[in-house]
Amino acid sequence: MTNHPEHPSAPEVEHLAVTLRRRRAELADADGARIGQGTVVHGLTTHMWAGIEVPAVACHAAVDPLRLHAAAGPVTCRRCLGRSRGVREQVPGQTSLL
Ligand SMILES: [Zn+2]
Repeated sequence: MTNHPEHPSAPEVEHLAVTLRRRRAELADADGARIGQGTVVHGLTTHMWAGIEVPAVACHAAVDPLRLHAAAGPVTCRRCLGRSRGVREQVPGQTSLL
């Protein structure tokens, strides 16, 4: 668990909780997620953040769940695919995470 934002204040958590739960619901049925305008489809997982379940990509390429967008089709991120097979080391051959 690295690169997490600063600990937010309570009102910020309350506001973000609503947004994050909605985003998680939007991603619940997705096969994967794109980051921003990226073309790589990442595997989805769930992280706990400030006591809230938030969507995240399996390879930790992005820490901001609000940048994730639901994507149809198979996961193409080799790091996510590697993690799902239990392989933790870097995957050679992929230079872009987006
Ligand atoms: Zn990935």
